[in-house]
Amino acid sequence: MATPVGLNAEPIQYPPFGAPKKVIIIGGGMAGMKLAHTLTKHGVDFCLIEISKYMGGRIKSSALEDETIEEGANWIHGSKNNKTKKTNPIWAMAKECGLQT
Ligand SMILES: Cc1cc2nc3c(=O)[nH]c(=O)nc-3n(C[C@H](O)[C@H](O)[C@H](O)COP(=O)(O)OP(=O)(O)OC[C@H]3O[C@@H](n4cnc5c(N)ncnc54)[C@H](O)[C@@H]3O)c2cc1C
Repeated sequence: MATPVGLNAEPIQYPPFGAPKKVIIIGGGMAGMKLAHTLTKHGVDFCLIEISKYMGGRIKSSALEDETIEEGANWIHGSKNNKTKKTNPIWAMAKECGLQT
């Protein structure tokens, strides 16, 4: 049985009817993509519906001549929460995906 984890890598309790067979994710922003990533890791089938023509939501870059312009999010604000000492899940995902930071 698959065990999806939440944003902070804590187990999510399944409702009494058990593990979902298929999940519909509305929106391909960071939240939707993180969920898709987590469900993929745990073998849960999903369908992601994105209304716009690109993925990423408020993470968006565009080209201006030879330069790349960031129109939205482009910073990971710290690798760890100083109070809880938990790793920033966005940082963890970037590392897991081998992204250059
Ligand atoms: C200018 C700017 C700079 C920012 N900089 C940073 C930063 O440096 N670091 C940081 O951590 N955060 C930053 N943020 C915040 C960050 O961008 C957001 O917190 C994050 O991207 C939100 O992700 P989300 O998936 O929740 O929502 P969104 O990114 O808004 O994604 C929602 C998605 O759902 C889609 N959608 C909406 N309605 C429907 C529908 N009915 N059917 C199908 N699809 C639908 C939208 O098209 C969109 O793709 C910034 C935000 C802005 C605006």
